[in-house]
Amino acid sequence: MQIPANRLDRVYRQHQAEYESKALEVLRSGYYILGEETARFEQAFADYLGGGFVVGVGCGLDALTISMHLLGIGCGDEVIVQGNTFIAAVLAIIHNGATPVFAEPDDGFCLSPESIERKITPKTKAVIVTHLYGMVTPMEPILSLCRSRRLMVIEDAAQAHGAEYRGQKAGTFGDAGCFSFYPTKNLGAFGDAGAVFVRDPALAEAIRTYRNYGSEKRYHNAMTGVNSRLDEMQAGFLNVRLRHLEELTQQKAAAAAYYSRYIANPLITLPVPAPETACVWHQYVIRCDTRDDLAAWLLTKGIHTDIHYPVPPHLTEACRFLQMKRGDLPVTERLTDTVLSLPLFFGITKEEQDAVILALNDYRPDKSEE
Ligand SMILES: *Cc1c(COP(=O)(O)O)cnc(C)c1O
Repeated sequence: MQIPANRLDRVYRQHQAEYESKALEVLRSGYYILGEETARFEQAFADYLGGGFVVGVGCGLDALTISMHLLGIGCGDEVIVQGNTFIAAVLAIIHNGATPVFAEPDDGFCLSPESIERKITPKTKAVIVTHLYGMVTPMEPILSLCRSRRLMVIEDAAQAHGAEYRGQKAGTFGDAGCFSFYPTKNLGAFGDAGAVFVRDPALAEAIRTYRNYGSEKRYHNAMTGVNSRLDEMQAGFLNVRLRHLEELTQQKAAAAAYYSRYIANPLITLPVPAPETACVWHQYVIRCDTRDDLAAWLLTKGIHTDIHYPVPPHLTEACRFLQMKRGDLPVTERLTDTVLSLPLFFGITKEEQDAVILALNDYRPDKSEE
């Protein structure tokens, strides 16, 4: 049996008829960009998040870049971002002409308020919190620190649709919450899509204008905007997917609980969400000191895994200009060397999970050399 690290066809099959009839409906409607499906999705997702405004954009990276730009972040500013993040947040800072300053996570995967505090300078303008793997970073300590230091807070909630901290949804705590609907996400489209959540109606309006060439009225340009629009087909698919999101989240939570219950190997550390949070299990990420050896062992059993992420942003070729080196972010780098994402896709079967559990529980460090 081969078990892929991820597969997307099974989530499509779960509601195949609904996606297919939506596709036909959109094709036949004659509206393909920024029409009714998009407006409906923006409203439905805002309602789902508990109020506020949602503006659809082209992808998650655009959500980050555009919201930061319209919050006034630019040249000369520093933005604090966690070392253990997907590079999107870092690129968004750089694309705005600002400088990323890396802070460390705590002993889980969440950005540490103490580490943020150590990185604040007179140039610091904002902090980006990434809710990694579907876990939610406990926001209260970060929000009160940022409030007292007059820093903006931006959430990268691209992996945390529907996740909660103290009963409030991820992405709704700061000045802007950024979402991606890339197909692998829990709330995934079937192409590129993203959105920004904000509470300030003026900011929502500015994003709405900016994403469409800066024009409020056709061919009248109020600002030097961009083209980053959510198209009708993706919005239509998202309207279908959003209706089933709670049920899909339950499926993943059950599969994650199954792993947590039955994986038992002293060499493996299981993921534990922070207190007062509801995790949506975008990924199930274990830690192991002999991670590469473990991944090789799993592969001999046909089990494919992934690493999120094999190179931390500060050590990428892209960020060489920051002149950082290995050892600069020891907590982040330790995670980079030890994390392993197990197969946890929608529609994974008990048999597939049992095979993963059996192989993990059988693992000893020298095994793959036998
Ligand atoms: C997927 C993802 C993004 C970027 O989304 P795109 O839609 O691919 O641009 C940003 N941040 C995180 C944490 C992500 O997982």
